[in-house]
Formats: sequence, structure tokens, C-alpha cells
Amino acid sequence: METPVSFDYAPAPESRAVVSIKPKYGHFIGGKFVAGSKHFPTINPATEEVLSQIALAGKADVDAAVKAARKAYTTTWSKMSGKERGKYLFRIARIMQERSREFAVLETLDNGKPIRESRDVDVPLAAAHFFYHAGWADKLEFAGLGTSTKPHGVAGQIIPWNFPLLMLAWKVAPALAAGNTVVLKPAENTSLTALLFAEVCQQAELPAGVVNIVTGDGSTGALIVNHPGIDKIAFTGSTEVGKIIARAVAPTHKSVTLELGGKAANIIFEDAAIDEAIEGIVNGVFFNQGHVCCAGSRLILQESVAEEVVEKLKKRMAKIRVGDPMDKNTDLGAINSKEQLLKIRDLSATGDTEGAERWSAPCDLPTKGFWFPPTIFTGVTQSHRIAREEIFGPVLSVLTFRTPQEGIDKANNTPFGLSAGIWSEKGSRILWASQQLRAGVIWANTFNKFDPTSPFGGYKESGWGREGGRHGLSAYLKGVGHE
Ligand code: ADP
Repeated sequence: METPVSFDYAPAPESRAVVSIKPKYGHFIGGKFVAGSKHFPTINPATEEVLSQIALAGKADVDAAVKAARKAYTTTWSKMSGKERGKYLFRIARIMQERSREFAVLETLDNGKPIRESRDVDVPLAAAHFFYHAGWADKLEFAGLGTSTKPHGVAGQIIPWNFPLLMLAWKVAPALAAGNTVVLKPAENTSLTALLFAEVCQQAELPAGVVNIVTGDGSTGALIVNHPGIDKIAFTGSTEVGKIIARAVAPTHKSVTLELGGKAANIIFEDAAIDEAIEGIVNGVFFNQGHVCCAGSRLILQESVAEEVVEKLKKRMAKIRVGDPMDKNTDLGAINSKEQLLKIRDLSATGDTEGAERWSAPCDLPTKGFWFPPTIFTGVTQSHRIAREEIFGPVLSVLTFRTPQEGIDKANNTPFGLSAGIWSEKGSRILWASQQLRAGVIWANTFNKFDPTSPFGGYKESGWGREGGRHGLSAYLKGVGHE
């Protein structure tokens, strides 16, 4: 018998020479970098190397940022024509493209995601958001949102660590296009690309105070949320913090959008193209280490194809290359933090104790840094915690169904409703299923596809409002629909 030939991948590390990381950072307020008082370390989760010291903004810093944003709003930005605002957005987009390698390397070092993803997904999509919204800046009255819309004023924006630069773009681009100024806080684990973006604002000669970036943890976020000088809050993060924010802004004049958690169903009907579906399942839950609010973390399989899908999936998962995020061949990088790794381990352990069957792809995990192998649980029932709670890691829970209606019922049996996937060769089934599913974004025969023109957001505990497209733009305007 012939021995099968196998090819190994030679190391293909990306160079980090393109970035220069300062030992310590301050905040970006009123167009200038200002020193912080207290600092905390930010680390590379793949190596645990301390990359830099990040400033922790307190009340005085947040006050200064809000004041700078208000001044820029009243004296410059609200007076400028949409056409002029658009030019700045175009300029920012082009500089992001020019410096894309720097952004990609920095994102991977600070976040742990594979360079292939930061290079091919995060950074190009972030630039695309600025290009798209640059186009809206002088056409707001033609957006179908009414002709007497106005910006809110100062927007306070709080973002998570899973797509640091991309979430910044989702927040800043529509806010600026609509005529608002912003105070943005990146997540405490991943501030570096936001601080590099501040340099881009300087390079683009954006008027001082239009974008302000303060770094810090949840305490800084709370100062922004509760600041009386802020008119609109935009938040992406956990449902838990989203609820705190909703309570805090309820008795105020502030407008709010929340993009929260998910537990998306990826439904495979028996007539699906199985090999394509396998790729979609892998992309659905292992993209970005599963640190994706719309990850397809519940695989809902029609019983007649369940065995075949699970077998093929395991084979495919065994080929996922886990390791150095800076290597261009890596598929699955590091878990973003020790806390997140512990959360994934704890929730996975409940899968074992509640009776599901765990299978992890065989792989050698690095000894330093935070790692979790691609894992699936079969025999999961709807009452298991791994079927109900967001795991935010490379872990897939597999459930089965007999009739299409049972599949839909299982998919909808969740407090969330951010996204869903349907795999079927039958157009009528796709249309039927997408009408039954209670999810903001539904993909058919694909998964995790994003575009600035397409609104993104959820039902139920997945949040309020939409980001992207005309719908996302409307969240940054008041008087929408009122003539
Ligand atoms: P995750 O579970 O993804 O870490 P969090 O909701 O804890 O999500 O964090 C998302 C963002 O919200 C981060 O920038 C974090 O610093 C910020 N944050 C955490 N707690 C609060 C709070 N109470 N108020 C405002 N922002 C907060």
C-alpha cells in the first residue's frame, strides 16, 4: 500500500518591524496626545509579553474629552458642510489603507487574532466603513430618513476587544458622517489600534476635538455613559453591561444603541451541500477564535445527515492550524485574555458534567499565552448551559432535529437573536426558514459575511438598533422620519 504524502507548512511569520509601540500611552483629547495619570499593562495574549502601558482615564480626563468634543461640535463640525466632512472621512479611509500593514500587525500583536484575519478582514473592512460613510456625509437628505434630520451632538462610544479597529470604524464613521463628534473608549485589553487611529486623525488634519479617545476599563466606560455632556451612547459588548447601560440612560435625554451577545444557530437541512456547509460551520464558529457575537455557536443538524456532518467536521477541524497569530498560515490564534480563557474552560466543563460529549481537535498548544483547541460538543440538549449561554470561544454545540419546524423552534429557543445561518439547496426552504427565524442577520449558504452597506444588529437580548447601512446611519441622527 502506498503511504499517503503529507505536506507540512514551513513557518511564515509576518515581521513586526513595521510597528513602533511606545512604552507608555496617554489619551487623545482635543487633537493632542495628553499624558494619563494611572496606567495598566496591555499584553500580547499569544506570548504574555507586556507590549505597553495604557492610561486609565478618570473623571477629569473624561470631562476634558467631552468638553473638547462639545467645542469641536459647536464651533467647527456642526457648521461644516456635509461635503467637507466627507472629504475628511475619505482622507481617513485612504490613510488607513496606506497604513494597513501597520494596523494589521498591531491588531494581531495586541489581540491575538491571526494576521491573515486582521490583514484580510478587520483592516480592509474598517477602511471600507469610512469610505462608505464618506459617501453619505453630503447626501443625508437623500437617505430616506427625512429632510430635517440633525446630528445628536456628542456621541460616547464604548467598544469591545474582539474586533478593536473594526468596531471603532463601525462607531466613528457613521457618527462623523452624520455630523456628530465623538468620545470613544476602546476595550482595556486592546487599545493600541485605537491609539494608532488617533495618529491617523492627526495625519488627516481632522479638526481638533472631533474624535477623542480615552482609554481605560469599565469604570471609564461608566463615566462616559453617565456624563451629562453626552447626547448619544453607542455600545458594543456583553449583554450584562448592556443592561447596566440601558438602566443608566433610561431616565436621561440620551439616545442609545446596544450591540450585545448572541448564540447563533447554524441550521443544516438534509438537502444542503454538505462539503460547503462544513466550511461554513468552521468559518462560523472558529473565525476569530469564536470571539464573535454573531458566531454560529449552535450547530442545528437535521438528523438524517447528522452523522455524516459530524464525521466530516471532525476531519476538517483536525486540519485547523492553531498557533502563532503572526504566522501567515495560522487559522486559529490566541484567546484574547486569561479571564476569557477561564470563562471558556468553565462553560465547557458544564458541557461535560451535564452529559454532552466533548471532542477537541488534536493539536499542540504553545506553552506560553492563552489557548483553547477547536472543540465540539455532541449530544447537546436545549437545557444544557452550552446551548444557552454565549461562550465566545472556539466551541461548538451540536443539536439535532427531525422536521424543519423543529429545527426552527430549536434555533429560536434562545434569549438572543443576533444572527443565524441556513444551509439548503432549496430556495423556497431558505425563504421560509428566514421568515421564521428571529435574528437580525440571516446568512444563507454562507456565514460571517460583513459589509458596511448591510445593517447589523439583533432582536431580544442581542441589543437595540442597527449598525451599518442606512439603518445604522439613522441612529446618529435625530428627527428621523419627521418632516
Ligand atoms: P466583554 O465581555 O466582551 O469583555 P464587556 O461588556 O465587559 O464585554 O466590555 C465591553 C466594553 O465595555 C469594554 O470597553 C469595557 O471596558 C466596557 N465596560 C465594562 N463595564 C462597563 C460599564 N459598567 N459601563 C460602561 N462600559 C463598561
